[in-house]
Amino acid sequence: MPRPIRAHIHTAALAANLERARRSAADARLWAVVKANAYGHGIERVWDALRAADGFALLDLQEAERVRALGWRGPILLLEGVFEPRDLELCSRLSLWHAVHCDEQIDMLAAHKTQQPQRVFLKLNSGMNRLGFTPERYRSAWARLNALTQVDEISHMTHFSDADGPRGIAHQWQAFCTATQDLPGERSVCNSAALLRHASDAQVRGDWVRAGIALYGSAPDFPERSASDWGLAPTMTLSTRLLGVQQLQAGDSVGYGSRFRAEAPMRIGIAACGYADGYPRHADTGTPVLVHGVRTRLVGRVSMDMVTVDLEPVLAAGVEPGFGTQVTLWGRADTGAVLPIDEVAHAAGTVGYELMCALAPRVPVLAE
Ligand SMILES: *Cc1c(COP(=O)(O)O)cnc(C)c1O
Repeated sequence: MPRPIRAHIHTAALAANLERARRSAADARLWAVVKANAYGHGIERVWDALRAADGFALLDLQEAERVRALGWRGPILLLEGVFEPRDLELCSRLSLWHAVHCDEQIDMLAAHKTQQPQRVFLKLNSGMNRLGFTPERYRSAWARLNALTQVDEISHMTHFSDADGPRGIAHQWQAFCTATQDLPGERSVCNSAALLRHASDAQVRGDWVRAGIALYGSAPDFPERSASDWGLAPTMTLSTRLLGVQQLQAGDSVGYGSRFRAEAPMRIGIAACGYADGYPRHADTGTPVLVHGVRTRLVGRVSMDMVTVDLEPVLAAGVEPGFGTQVTLWGRADTGAVLPIDEVAHAAGTVGYELMCALAPRVPVLAE
């Protein structure tokens, strides 16, 4: 009998979230961002639900090969472009479009021997200061690319640092418009946060939007807005079962370091999920969890294979929890109750993205 921990991937929710993302930019084409193995969901598990997208965007050439192996013939974009010259051969063979963010990538293209000119997305560093050409250098990079026989179409892209927050996108959007002014080619600027919060402005929308986290049912701007505020449904459930129950007396402590001490008699449950499953070790007493669909809290420290949960609210709800009772770490319980991944992430000082991506290989995953 395997340990009772499971992840479930909800494919109908993925398809519904894709539709929801499209409604924010109905006249733009949509990249489904499936980097990091589809944000931990598994490319092979999500792609059928997401094949209504106009293209798949990712970073890793092996992941691009996997998407082609699934039978996808449409566009695939390498968001960081190529890493070494021989990657360009794969771009030719698999017809991959790729970002160009630095001179070295233009050098590689210039030296590349191919019969098949490539489509590239030239990246502007509009203020995030990770990848891309500065506004001063952008047009000369474009001119260099435009002179290469190895390149056919040149599109334009940039990435927003504050689409989810109060600073917003206006300053970067302005830099993008100035740098790309009068240059031919399609534009792509919006990630999920920009798509949901700013793309109602048709100009900012561009020709292609790049939706990642929204497809996976997490709000890019939690806690300001929640996934359900945005009409997004959870796509990943992490659930397990109780392995044991302990009756504590006032003063008794729980777990490593005795981080939690009972103030009054109480019952706690021991659930088969720990940081070796990808549950965040920084989650502390108070982090929400569902037991038989009833909302309660973690108590004490997360250990490698177990967490401890307060059963008092569950008993108060009339549920008698015992060995085998379902525990939902995030996502949807069998009762239908939902615990948003964003709430768990927030309590652990991180974001939904990280929890999804950190799902450990030892957790069996079922797509449904
Ligand atoms: C990951 C990524 C996205 C998607 O971001 P989300 O916040 O998940 O929507 C978009 N564009 C680029 C360049 C990315 O690297």
